[in-house]
Amino acid sequence: MKLSVVDNRTRLAELAIDPAVTRLRRELAEQSAAFETAPAGLIMAWAVERFGPKLALSCSFQESVLIDIAVAVDPSIEVVFLDTGSHFPETLEYVESIRARYDLNLRVVHPVAGAENHPCGTAQCCEFRKVRPLRQALAGKDGWVTGLKRADAATRRHAPIVAYDDSWGMVKINPLAIWTHRDLVSYARDHDIPQHPLRSQGYVSIGCAPTTLPVAEGEDLRAGRWADSDKTECGLHL
Ligand code: SF4
Repeated sequence: MKLSVVDNRTRLAELAIDPAVTRLRRELAEQSAAFETAPAGLIMAWAVERFGPKLALSCSFQESVLIDIAVAVDPSIEVVFLDTGSHFPETLEYVESIRARYDLNLRVVHPVAGAENHPCGTAQCCEFRKVRPLRQALAGKDGWVTGLKRADAATRRHAPIVAYDDSWGMVKINPLAIWTHRDLVSYARDHDIPQHPLRSQGYVSIGCAPTTLPVAEGEDLRAGRWADSDKTECGLHL
């Protein structure tokens, strides 16, 4: 169901004063603090134990460390990939290679109707190709695992490890929140995880092809995303 802006504000206001949500928020804040030094596998195990089949993991497939950690805990965890229709061919090949490697329970979702009316780089383009398809894919889930990291960008510096996300109405789990880019590279090397083919060409944060550029040494890791505009997020992690 599509909510108008006014309906959505009303729903968020209701959630803000719902005692059950307030309790959950408080509980998760304590849990998040306790996880600050925990290994990602332990955080995943907590999420699998708590949410069971009502847990899903979304992955952009710029790398697959989180998948490696998640399937070690639950080989059948549902993994969602947003095929925006604008990915690099290398990303789509990488998705298939990782699907085969882990025999993934992969769900590929596509843009919703009307996406073709919104040009690449606009907020509505991400809304129709990412946000709405993901909302549909996560319908009925209570927990959502993401690969979000504080080191990705200044806008993510304070990301919690677990928290109730009001705008999505579910618990968001970020097992890699405290990881650095170097941690990811080391883990991938130590576990022999294949790299995205564009990594060797300087691409670090890899999204849709028209809005992704390689990153120079010392630049913000997400500097190559929407590099010619003010846009920094696609709307999934606001
Ligand atoms: S990242 Fe760019 S091309 Fe991809 S959905 Fe968003 S605006 Fe559209």
